[in-house]
Amino acid sequence: MPRTPVAVVSGASSGIGAATARLLAADGWEVVVGARRIDRIEALADEIGGRAHPLDVTDPASVEAFCESVGGCHLLVNNAGGAVGVEPLAEAVDDKWQIMFETNVLGLMRMTRALLPRLIESGDGHVVNVTSIAALQGYPGGSGYNAAKFGARGVTESLRHELLGEPVRVTEVLPGMVETEFSVVRLDGDQERADAVYEGLTPLNAGDVAECIRWTASLPSHVNVDQLVVKPRDQADAFRAHRTRNA
Ligand code: NAP
Repeated sequence: MPRTPVAVVSGASSGIGAATARLLAADGWEVVVGARRIDRIEALADEIGGRAHPLDVTDPASVEAFCESVGGCHLLVNNAGGAVGVEPLAEAVDDKWQIMFETNVLGLMRMTRALLPRLIESGDGHVVNVTSIAALQGYPGGSGYNAAKFGARGVTESLRHELLGEPVRVTEVLPGMVETEFSVVRLDGDQERADAVYEGLTPLNAGDVAECIRWTASLPSHVNVDQLVVKPRDQADAFRAHRTRNA
């Protein structure tokens, strides 16, 4: 085992991924960060003393090149993902569903498949998949994202069974509302509508979720956190949140 264990974080150019990379680096991991916005991940790698490599999880060749650049690997945080659109099923847009499945499900599969031999070889591997409370409960306008995140949850469970007896932990982190670029991306760049998602309540921030990921990875090797659901105090589930309104 190398002196400095290596962690890979996908989708590290913003939000939860960037915050996770920072916390893992502070915990002593050598962090390899990937995303499509290369300027951002290069700046982050400089800041935390890690390595950056371009990564588009929807492109098999990009995943292959990224994973080749990684070398040994002890921890894989499959964080790249998100939602596109809020259309009800009756108005579902094929391209949007395609993107959601490609990033949240196939991307996670490609990254895990490529790095699994190295995670096993490390003798103490760990896969952390960032799904969502949308992996537990459907909501109106969520069907494409729900389907993708339910899928990612299913993959996570299967993997835990497949790796039984191997030295690799498998964890799923399921956040509720987190104020990142998530809603801006989902709502096609409409900042005003994105802000309204978090109006009147205190959402989680990226660092809150990163702390959960960091914690699961910091536990002794025999301790596997299967699922960690984390929501703002103001949110009961995907449907119900408490909001204060200014008169
Ligand atoms: P974010 O700020 O929009 O970050 C998403 C990250 O994913 C970005 O770094 C983006 O980088 C990356 N990404 C998107 N498509 C990619 C692709 N094809 N290849 C590589 N990277 C890609 O949102 P976030 O909230 O931090 O989201 C992180 C994860 O948490 C996602 O899986 C999301 O579904 C999940 N989540 C978020 C919330 C929430 O309320 N925010 C709640 C539950 C779960 P590039 O665009 O530079 O490639």
